Amino acid sequence: MNHAPLKDIVIVGGGTAGWMTAAALSTVLRGQYRIRVVESDEIGTVGVGEATIPQIQRFNAVLGLNEAEFVRETQGTFKLGIEFVNWGRLGERYMHGFGRLGQDVWTVPFDQYWHRLRAQGRAHPLEQYSITRMAAKANKFMPARPDLGNSPLADIAYAYHFDASLYARYLRRLSESRGVQRTEGRISHATRRGEGAHAGHIDAVVLESGERIAGDLFIDCSGFRGLLIEQTLQAGFEDWTHWLPCDRALAVPCESVSPLTPYTRSTAHRAGWQWRIPLQHRTGNGHVYCSQHISDDEAAATLLANLDGRPLADPRPIRFRTGMRRLAWHENVVAIGLASGFLEPLESTSIYLIQQGIQQLIDFFPDRGFSPADVAEFNRANRFHYERIRDFIILHYHLNQRDDAPFWQACAAMAVPETLTEKMDLYRSRGRVVRRDNELFAEVGWIQVMEGQNLHPEAAHPLAGLLDDAVAQEHLERVRQVVAKCVEVMPGHADYIAQHCAA
Ligand code: FAD
Repeated sequence: MNHAPLKDIVIVGGGTAGWMTAAALSTVLRGQYRIRVVESDEIGTVGVGEATIPQIQRFNAVLGLNEAEFVRETQGTFKLGIEFVNWGRLGERYMHGFGRLGQDVWTVPFDQYWHRLRAQGRAHPLEQYSITRMAAKANKFMPARPDLGNSPLADIAYAYHFDASLYARYLRRLSESRGVQRTEGRISHATRRGEGAHAGHIDAVVLESGERIAGDLFIDCSGFRGLLIEQTLQAGFEDWTHWLPCDRALAVPCESVSPLTPYTRSTAHRAGWQWRIPLQHRTGNGHVYCSQHISDDEAAATLLANLDGRPLADPRPIRFRTGMRRLAWHENVVAIGLASGFLEPLESTSIYLIQQGIQQLIDFFPDRGFSPADVAEFNRANRFHYERIRDFIILHYHLNQRDDAPFWQACAAMAVPETLTEKMDLYRSRGRVVRRDNELFAEVGWIQVMEGQNLHPEAAHPLAGLLDDAVAQEHLERVRQVVAKCVEVMPGHADYIAQHCAA
């Protein structure tokens, strides 16, 4: 096998995926490889994708970004979680917040004492035991103060909302300053090697202008079309529409309104749901819906009727198919971003999946031999992450008790993946959640959604009964009061941004 290093890396596409990949590779590869990005202004980008999860902080840290500058450049805000409205039953709401819940005491996790006391009517709603959920509800924000030791203020997990187009522009400047070359133009086709060890590998992309850009490794960030991975290499697509039937979205920005909320909101409608993402200069909104259950006109009317401020444009339609590329790495092409698959943005996971794809590419970075074992492991890991996130998103749809719309009744009745059934059965029995390997969503995420949508365990962990109920209740109450006191001293979200992120 040829172990000589690669030389030329070509990134096809300059959306969020393309520029995140370029920024990361130009940082990590230390100028030892030639990196080119090809993008077409005429085709443009998806241009939505504004809510993230806390892992984005790690990505920005690897790039060496300054948080205040990043928030300023992207018109960003802080995010402590997602509020779900109407997902269990109409009129109900709950918060899926980041970070831990409560404070562990003794043998079993905090939530197990909560389950036991809740069943006796002696516990408050789960969110009252968490700093991020209560701060979100009070529109407060500050980053963690690790110097405060045991205080809830020492451990505040958060992410960001930002303008994805501004983020891509910001990362482009950074990438170019680290040696990445950008070519503007529309790719008409790719050429493949005819013979030799790597027959079938792509050797160049050809622009409509006739310019030919050769490479050793191609990263397909061309969006839904999958220009190289699908249109050229036909890696195949696994369709998950039978579990996640929404297939369209309408996106519209509106004026931002006060207060500036430090959380995303997801409101379930008759045949889909609406996101609300507060940025500094506007609020992003969109209606994700199932075209079999609602017309485009009705979907647009629902979206516009549920905005907080005046719309700043006409709703922009986006069509999609939920699922994943069978092979995200095939031959010498690695697909990252929408080219590798799509899961609706219910838990803000697409940008995370880009980050995860980049991390895996770095972990399994190839040489000229393109080891089949490495490629197979990349694809296995990619599938694992997609499937686990898919299950979590299906949970939101499946676990509803809405009797007002056929769409929701069909979701409640549908057969779900076995991996999800196992998780729900385990929870239903004794409130246990097992996080397998390094799957994205931890126990605390599953618990909040299952409880928030009215799935309660039949009984708590048997060992929760070893602690006297009165002692457990006292502990819970102490946590709740400390959380409330901490939230009181936190600054307002908008004030924090004005003070710490202004130019
Ligand atoms: P695109 O943005 O489509 O970029 C594709 C690039 O390829 C463009 O630069 C284009 O010019 C280029 N290109 C394509 N064909 C050619 C060609 N022939 N020649 C040259 N260049 C070409 N993610 C989140 O994390 N949070 C969210 O809240 C969120 N909300 C979303 C809401 C919706 C409705 C959708 C659809 C997605 C959402 N996402 C979200 C996902 C997020 O938008 C995408 O993951 C992200 O924008 C990455 O897109 P991309 O770069 O893969 O593709």
